[in-house]
This record gives sequence, structure tokens and C-alpha cells, in this order.
Amino acid sequence: MRFADARLEPVWDKIRSGERLTRDDGLLLFGTDDLLGLARLADHVKSQREGDRVYFVINRHITPTNVCVLACRFCDFARKKGEAGSFEYSIEEMVGLVHEGVREVHIVGGHHPDWPFEYYERALAAIHAVHPGVQIKAFTAAEIDYFYRRWKIEPKEALTRLRAAGLQSMPGGGAEIFSARLARELKYTGKADPDRWCEIHGIAHSLGIRTNATMLYGHVETLAERVDHLLRLRDQQDASGGFLTFIPLAYQVGTTKLVPRQTPPTDSLRTIAASRLLLDNFPHIEAYWVVLGEDTTSVALHFGADDINGTLEDERIQHMAGAQTPAGLARAQLIRMISDAGKTPIERDALYNVVQVWN
Ligand code: SF4
Repeated sequence: MRFADARLEPVWDKIRSGERLTRDDGLLLFGTDDLLGLARLADHVKSQREGDRVYFVINRHITPTNVCVLACRFCDFARKKGEAGSFEYSIEEMVGLVHEGVREVHIVGGHHPDWPFEYYERALAAIHAVHPGVQIKAFTAAEIDYFYRRWKIEPKEALTRLRAAGLQSMPGGGAEIFSARLARELKYTGKADPDRWCEIHGIAHSLGIRTNATMLYGHVETLAERVDHLLRLRDQQDASGGFLTFIPLAYQVGTTKLVPRQTPPTDSLRTIAASRLLLDNFPHIEAYWVVLGEDTTSVALHFGADDINGTLEDERIQHMAGAQTPAGLARAQLIRMISDAGKTPIERDALYNVVQVWN
């Protein structure tokens, strides 16, 4: 490969020889103007791993409640109990949201002040009883940590009980950006800090529960903080090995307005490519169509992404933050997004077992 930015050539040499990239390499990936060079590097790595396969899943988001004891400054979703716009689902309502054909249910919500842990346990058990074939991916490490803060249930016990109720895997939210500076500035010191977030994922991995990881970017973080976040995840994956997918989440401006406008598509594409290159031990990198939009998602499939998430049906967290995408997409639209990029759509389940190849 030849590069407009010659500083990428040693990075290419490292990639070819299987040498791990350093923090300085990461800073270069986020700093170079040679976006197309970056894309070629990331696409090379992605293609070595997955060929032209790109995954999606027929899934259903369930947000049990947006009532939350915290008030993170980037969050447009949370409400206080009884506040206009707050909602709380009954277990019956949650079960009723799952229909035939859904393979994965994704459950994430606010830190409710008084729902007991048993309520969550019963909700999973009820969904599992009615839809035993549906894989349940539920509760971020921040929520698992909250169950300890609120009810003194240790993460290992919480995860063991939730798994007995039907939990199969965990989503990657609640990581935000691993930065004490930002936790103070954006008022998320009340949730699991980086050590605790990683500890909980490590516990899940030791129990055989696969998990995802995220990074909220495009607000007031520095590029160095992004690199450090990615390297912390890489270290945790070295230690516990159970991460499946990394999902960069572009901050939605909504009414929280930490910055005047959403970060541009080029920044999202750069972040996806740098993630693919730095996270050499993560099986999958996702271009989450909800926060990127359909066009950028398609392009991102040439920047190292091999997954676009799924049909979602009723995504709430990003949409309450102002995401302009639809709240769900049909399978045919996901297939078209992947085909338009010249890739092969692979319908998967929550654990990346292949359900169907769509040519
Ligand atoms: S990001 Fe999560 S923890 Fe923070 S206020 Fe919103 S719902 Fe609550």
C-alpha cells in the first residue's frame, strides 16, 4: 500500500507482521488527514478476518424504564419518577413486545430508584418462558453495578441469578469514555468507573457470558481519551477474552448540547477504522446504523466495520436524544444497506451463529 501520509507506512508494516499497535500509533490514526489510507488499512484487517461478510440480527429493543436516579449530562433519555415523559413497563408489557421471528432481545434502561432486583429477574424469566428460543442480551455493567449500590447484590450473584432467569449475553453500554476528567465534567461519577466496568465484564466472561463494549464519542472528549479508552478495552480483552463486539456510539446532540452539532461522518468513519486497527483482539466492530444513519453505515463497511446491529423495532435511548434515523428497520433495508456497500449480508443470532447468508 502507498499512503498520502507517509507516517502510515510503519503502521502498515506492523499490521502485515502482526505487531500490536501502540498508543502513539493510535494517536496517529486519529490525527492523520489520510482518511482513505486509514480506510484501506482497516478494510485490510477486516477482510483478513471476515472476508466480505457483514452481520445483522433480527432484534428487539426493550427499554423497561427511563426513570433514573442519575442525571448524566449527555443523556436526553432519563426522567425522574412521575416527570412528564417518564415511562415504566410492566412485565406483561415487556413480554408482549417480543414477537415471532425475533432472535435477540436487547434490554437496557434507567437506574430505577425502587424496582427491586427481583423485578428484573422476573422480567427475564417471563420473556424466556414465553419465548424460549429468543436470546436475551440484558443490562449494562453500569446497571449491574447499580444493583450492587442499591440492593447490595454482588455482580457475580446478580449475573448468576440473571443467567438462571434467561440472560445469555450483556450489552456494552455504560462505558461512556473512560476518563475521570469527563466523569466529573459530564456528571457520570455516580455510575461504574472504568475499573468497575471492566471488573464486571471480567466477571461475566468468567461465567461464560459474552459481552459487548462501547465508547461514547463526539462530545467534549479529546482524541487521546478515545485512544486510552480503546487500549483499556484491549487490555481487558487480553485479561478475560469474552468481548464479542465493539460499538462506537456517536453522541447525539439533542437538547443536552454539549457541542453545537453532531460529529461529522468523517469522524465516525475514522473512529471505526482506528477501533478496528487498535482492537486487534475484538472479533467484531460495529457500525451502529441508528447513530450513523444509513448512508454513513454503508460507507463504514469499507472502514473496518463488519456488523450493523439489527432491526431494533423500538430503539428509544438514541431517539430520545434526537437521532434522526427511524426507530427500526425491516430486514430488507438492512440487507440493502450491506449489499449497497458490495458486501455479503449475513443474518446472525446474538452470539454470531449464522442464521442465513443473503446473496
Ligand atoms: S445515561 Fe443512563 S445512568 Fe445516566 S442519566 Fe441516562 S439513563 Fe441514567
